Amino acid sequence: MNAPYVPPGTGRPGDPATPGTPVAEDAEAVRKLAADAPDLGELVARQSVCRACPRLVEWREHVAVERRRAFAEEEYWGRPVPGWGDPHPRVLIIGLAPAAHGGNRTGRIFTGDRSGDWLFASLHRVGLAAMPTSTHAGDGQRLLGARMLGPVRCAPPANKPTPAERATCSPWLARELELTSGSLCSIVVLGGYAWQALWPALKEAGYDLPRPRPAFGHGAEVVVTAPDGRTALLLGCYHPSQQNTFTGRVTEEMLDAVFTRARTHAGLPERNAG
Ligand code: SF4
Repeated sequence: MNAPYVPPGTGRPGDPATPGTPVAEDAEAVRKLAADAPDLGELVARQSVCRACPRLVEWREHVAVERRRAFAEEEYWGRPVPGWGDPHPRVLIIGLAPAAHGGNRTGRIFTGDRSGDWLFASLHRVGLAAMPTSTHAGDGQRLLGARMLGPVRCAPPANKPTPAERATCSPWLARELELTSGSLCSIVVLGGYAWQALWPALKEAGYDLPRPRPAFGHGAEVVVTAPDGRTALLLGCYHPSQQNTFTGRVTEEMLDAVFTRARTHAGLPERNAG
């Protein structure tokens, strides 16, 4: 029988956890383990073994056992997909949740699915990714001055997390915002769901936010202020979901324009030789 998940610390490329990484079994444990994570490395390790949402744990592991026929020979990750990229990002990219046969299979956000194909191609064109594709952890892809994460870290049935699941996962996001706020200049928010999920986490991370909350839209821009007085520019961007790309609601040019704006605001070069 296929395994329901990759055991932590068994050598999978990009696995941040070890067998000793503490596991959150409920919402209270997520709050505690997120708040006292001493650094980003330990935070993402803890994210990657979390089991606080029973419905999502069941679904992500069910998918990992069943598998899609095209990936039947691959070992599915079957765990939460943690934040990934530069530990001192100037640009943060926030999506929705991992795809069942994308991030839930590969263990890396936006990796191995159609949305990721669009996203990484755009990031590469504007100079925020080393390669135009992202197929699996260990493929050599790197984000350049950027980091990406989902406000919900486990693949949900029908791509729809519940409000309670989003709230349970929020402390992981808030702590990641805290630990990266010292370098952050731009935050690109992919879709209305991520826009909604981000605000409470920013508040929890101590950011000063405009009131009322500005509405999401492609090209929306809002300045938020970190507790240390640094500001970050929030940019709304339509999610490169298949529905949006098929219908032309979002195009390559539209994605490139938002990411170029984010990169230039962050003072990053057009092409990063690193
Ligand atoms: S969605 Fe978030 S809080 Fe829920 S099990 Fe996954 S990582 Fe944990």
